[in-house]
Amino acid sequence: MTEREFIPPAKPIIGPDERAAVDAVLQTGMVAQGPQVAAFEQEFGDQLVAGRTCVAVNSGTSGLHLGLLAAGIGPGDEVIVPSFTFAATANSVALTGATPVFVDIEPTYFCLALEAVEAAITERTRAIMPVHLFGHPADMTALRAVAERHGVMLFEDAAQAHGATWDGAPVGSFGTFAMFSLYPTKNMTSGEGGMVSCADDEVVRRVKLLRNQGMERQYANELVGLNNRMTDIHAAIGRVQLTKVGAWTRTRQDNAAFLDAHLESVAVPAVAEQATHVYHQYTVRVPEDRDEVVRRLREEFQVGSGVYYPIPNHRLESLSRFAPGLDLPETERAAAEVLSLPVHPSLSASDLERIVEAVNTVVKAGS
Ligand SMILES: *Cc1c(COP(=O)(O)O)cnc(C)c1O
Repeated sequence: MTEREFIPPAKPIIGPDERAAVDAVLQTGMVAQGPQVAAFEQEFGDQLVAGRTCVAVNSGTSGLHLGLLAAGIGPGDEVIVPSFTFAATANSVALTGATPVFVDIEPTYFCLALEAVEAAITERTRAIMPVHLFGHPADMTALRAVAERHGVMLFEDAAQAHGATWDGAPVGSFGTFAMFSLYPTKNMTSGEGGMVSCADDEVVRRVKLLRNQGMERQYANELVGLNNRMTDIHAAIGRVQLTKVGAWTRTRQDNAAFLDAHLESVAVPAVAEQATHVYHQYTVRVPEDRDEVVRRLREEFQVGSGVYYPIPNHRLESLSRFAPGLDLPETERAAAEVLSLPVHPSLSASDLERIVEAVNTVVKAGS
């Protein structure tokens, strides 16, 4: 077999435009939060969240943390979250002093299961925080109805879902707050960073205070806050990426359509009728020997893939104390079966063909 270039599971695209934007900021000598951050917040909200006010922070995790604090979440409160997600979802809840309550997912889109959410609501529940996992939105119509019926808030972990829509509205426009991550492997990046989309002026005000020592003016500290500011260097990268993310998303969707049409032996990702999927990940199920499939794709075909997530949050050493004796069967099944194939916008036509050949060869239909 000829030597072939490894196809990575993710590949951030950072080019001359980003480098020029960074250089322009460096030349001003003013690199901390300033005009680039303000412009990035405005453009991000206009382009991706239907004009909602957005506040930039130094990571997606900070965005969740500050959003939760701004919404008043703290000790004694419960926030319903999926366990089948990145640890930041529950970590941010736990760091406020509140309790993350882990709920199972539905097996089709890997998002929160409605009946399980409803069953988990207690008099301490303050909010439900779905994750739009892999770039497919959770069922926001139904979740909003559940939240309203029980008088609890709705938050969104939209870390993986820039530009995804549910029933015609962008993710990030449903919750009291929503967070988008700008980590390099996400659909767009600022290096590190996060964006908090806010439902009202008071949430905006509080997130801004919390990211800056609790003050709007120096020495007029209203709240106990942090330094979670984004730099103008990172914002300049993010602004360039914002001009490209739409085209990248269309390429992701085209790549996904190709894989959908040609993969023969795995269940391809479903897309709900009300949803636009932005394919942060292209995730299939491999019920038999998933880890062996990962190894063979890499070794025999030089095709990288990822397992998100092999260990559900409620079984992590750090978070298991919030879930004594909890059994989440669909979460466990997903953790054992999921496999994310490359779908990123840097794939060539021959890369896509090799991915198809590899999966169709390694995963035997009906195995
Ligand atoms: C990436 C991610 C986060 C955290 O974002 P960072 O920018 O890495 O802090 C939170 N939730 C989910 C679902 C993520 O994928």
